[in-house]
Amino acid sequence: MAKQKKKERKFGKDTVRCRRCGSCNAVIRRYGLYLCRQCFREVARQLGFRKYN
Ligand SMILES: [Zn+2]
Repeated sequence: MAKQKKKERKFGKDTVRCRRCGSCNAVIRRYGLYLCRQCFREVARQLGFRKYN
């Protein structure tokens, strides 16, 4: 059989994209963030996990 790329779904009905970089790699929808893990790490820093320099 051919590859099933059309029916690829990760989280529920639709694939959510990161609203920051546009990728759909492991996008976190929790807390209405809609960010991929990479961007989440960067944003989280700004939200409250920033470094104290
Ligand atoms: Zn991202």
